[in-house]
Amino acid sequence: MITESQLQPENAVRRDTVPAGDYYMQIVKKGQTFRILDLEGNQAADTLFYNANHPAERYSAIDTIREQGNVYLTTGTKILSDQGNVMLEIVADTCGRHDTLGGACATESNTVRYALEKKTMHACRDSWLLAVTEHEEFGLTKRDITHNINFFMNVPITESGGLTFEDGISAPGKYVELKAAMDVIVLISNCPQLNNPCNAYNPTPVEVLVWDA
Ligand SMILES: [Zn+2]
Repeated sequence: MITESQLQPENAVRRDTVPAGDYYMQIVKKGQTFRILDLEGNQAADTLFYNANHPAERYSAIDTIREQGNVYLTTGTKILSDQGNVMLEIVADTCGRHDTLGGACATESNTVRYALEKKTMHACRDSWLLAVTEHEEFGLTKRDITHNINFFMNVPITESGGLTFEDGISAPGKYVELKAAMDVIVLISNCPQLNNPCNAYNPTPVEVLVWDA
């Protein structure tokens, strides 16, 4: 559902630009709201969430989908943890639909999906692994990398129940905004890959803005 935000960028307490192929890893405190802004359109922001005070608790696609009875995420979606707790809620969304079924790109899946020589191409999973390695203070390791949300990514489900990766439905300036219901570690890989029609084969930066309660 398309819902605009009342928050003004000039009042944000943090603003970070995340180039394609880079990651964003920050704690967003309970009550704070953050926005992922698709600066140039059709980008994929592959995102993981963890309870900042107990990182073994993390985003669960299964629980989130089951409780809302919808496979797509948008305004009103409560992002649930694997322990059934609300981590965040989507409070504004000018894109209208986000994927949590397609998974993140990995070097292995790129070889299956595209071509063998894609094995050495940078993938979202690499960016997450680099993030947890460069930020030991968050207490995460390789084993904590699990299923994710693909903000701005268009992965419609076909009538026969399959998944298709389609050209994106986002556009320059579209955003999604989430309010934290607990202190969360936000780990975003801004997708680097050149094979995915979701980003129109043109990886571009996103911006992340945070507002206090
Ligand atoms: Zn990716």
